[in-house]
Amino acid sequence: MSNKHHTLLIVGGGAAGISVATTLRRQNAQIDIAIIEPSEKHYYQPGFTIIGGGAYTMAKTLKKEADLIPDSVVWLKDAVETFQPENNTVTLRSGEVVGYDYLVVCPGLQLDWQKIAGLTDTLGKNGVCSNYSPDTVEYTWECIKNLKSGTALFTQPPMPIKCAGAPQKIMYLAADRFRKKGILDKFNIEFCNAGPGMFGIPFFAKALSKVVADYGIKTQFLHNIVAIDGTTKTATFEVSDSEGNKQRIEKTFDMIHVTPPQSAPDFIKQSPLANAGGWVDVNERTLQHNRYQNIFGLGDATSTPNAKTAAAVRKQVPVVVDNIVNLINNISMREGYDGYGSCPLTTSLSTVMLAEFSYGGKVTPSFPFLDPRKNRWIWWLGKIMGFPWMYWSLMLKGYRFDIPHLESYAKRFVDKE
Ligand SMILES: Cc1cc2nc3c(=O)[nH]c(=O)nc-3n(C[C@H](O)[C@H](O)[C@H](O)COP(=O)(O)OP(=O)(O)OC[C@H]3O[C@@H](n4cnc5c(N)ncnc54)[C@H](O)[C@@H]3O)c2cc1C
Repeated sequence: MSNKHHTLLIVGGGAAGISVATTLRRQNAQIDIAIIEPSEKHYYQPGFTIIGGGAYTMAKTLKKEADLIPDSVVWLKDAVETFQPENNTVTLRSGEVVGYDYLVVCPGLQLDWQKIAGLTDTLGKNGVCSNYSPDTVEYTWECIKNLKSGTALFTQPPMPIKCAGAPQKIMYLAADRFRKKGILDKFNIEFCNAGPGMFGIPFFAKALSKVVADYGIKTQFLHNIVAIDGTTKTATFEVSDSEGNKQRIEKTFDMIHVTPPQSAPDFIKQSPLANAGGWVDVNERTLQHNRYQNIFGLGDATSTPNAKTAAAVRKQVPVVVDNIVNLINNISMREGYDGYGSCPLTTSLSTVMLAEFSYGGKVTPSFPFLDPRKNRWIWWLGKIMGFPWMYWSLMLKGYRFDIPHLESYAKRFVDKE
């Protein structure tokens, strides 16, 4: 027997969890909602890139969970440890068991820092930085600001990761800082990517290759970082060739920006909700669980093959909310999510290439007539002002606003390729 019960129980009070709670609350003032969230802090993570590039402050990315969770929603300040979907209950770290009628699972993903040998001993010192943690993102800017010459490495692990463009976004901001100081030619900048190309969608990959060439950055594909020694400033990479043969090489650096390997949280991997890869196993269009019909999943923790971004969450929230309401009213599920994700690629300190796409690598921009590959100042303004405002003031407040994203807007640019 569970000690507590809520009609709707939400696991995780991040971008997805808060937005589902507030959006449903705006539609239904009565429904009993609770969020399980262990942290008192909520970060606007897309802001981390520009903090690392010295163009934003930590204060602007941080709010208290208590100020984001509506008073009419119960906050269980604890973490889920296990799921018992057959009994409609979850067990918390405290040992408490909580029951539900409907469950939404959105605990984000896990950063596997320890998978790179030596990284946790040296992260945040010796020129080893990462935008992926609020504890180390300000050190990225320290490194970029203080370096006058040398080798700067930027690594990208195997997919999936959240915001697949983030490992290279910070590289362009660093290169532009060096250029503005007139010292870019004193640097050897390398993009060491475990993957085979600049970006998963060739349309954008080609445009990014031009950005890389313009800064004189060297690209090293199929280079997966496996170890790091901060004291000797040496990184070890496992390099694969086209036949799949692997060898280890070492590179020395003056600074290195590391993007950690990422996976589903362990408590999800070990739960009955997981698919074979460990992710919350949901239908990619309805976001309903594939085996338990009163469970939904969204955000970075799910099995859906979209880009793991807050932009994806923005499009997933109304689908999950509508489908919970549909389930309550015995109406069939809406196949409303088309895999939309977006990556505002900061190509300099005043320009952004706004990559927007859906399942199957379809280019689906939100704005007609504009070539999506173009580096634009207007999207930089979006990155530093517009998108954070949308996040805090619309999405997290539960306002529904759908900006249509259409393949037809990009057709003439894609056809030209
Ligand atoms: C450097 C960087 C740059 C990015 N840039 C962009 C960008 O430009 N554009 C973009 O759209 N997206 C970007 N993102 C990605 C975006 O931040 C995520 O995709 C988004 O936050 C996912 O939302 P979520 O709710 O699934 O997870 P999160 O927002 O990470 O929230 C998960 C929540 O679950 C909680 N939780 C964890 N474990 C448990 C548990 N056991 N029980 C209960 N709760 C738990 C956590 O404390 C957390 O509050 C970036 C991310 C990073 C790190």
